[in-house]
Amino acid sequence: MPRRNRSSGEEPPPLRVAGGPRLETRRGRQWNVQPISAAQALKAYVCPGCGLGIAEGVPHLVVWRADGVLGDTADLEARRHWHAHCWRIA
Ligand SMILES: [Zn+2]
Repeated sequence: MPRRNRSSGEEPPPLRVAGGPRLETRRGRQWNVQPISAAQALKAYVCPGCGLGIAEGVPHLVVWRADGVLGDTADLEARRHWHAHCWRIA
């Protein structure tokens, strides 16, 4: 098994997805934004931006706080799934 040592010093996020989340600042807060591909979208979710469903197999974004006081695990558990469009205009 190949070993992959990351030398960045950053903790990799628990979500096992390629690329890792990008950091965005919204409304004075920092958020992790992770794109989910069609192949990774295995469940249906409700988008908090528009209140409508995100069907299985639809590419979307997973968003969670990057600056929460409860720590990364709690933030990640509180993650929300957004339509990419809804997050962009939120
Ligand atoms: Zn939406």
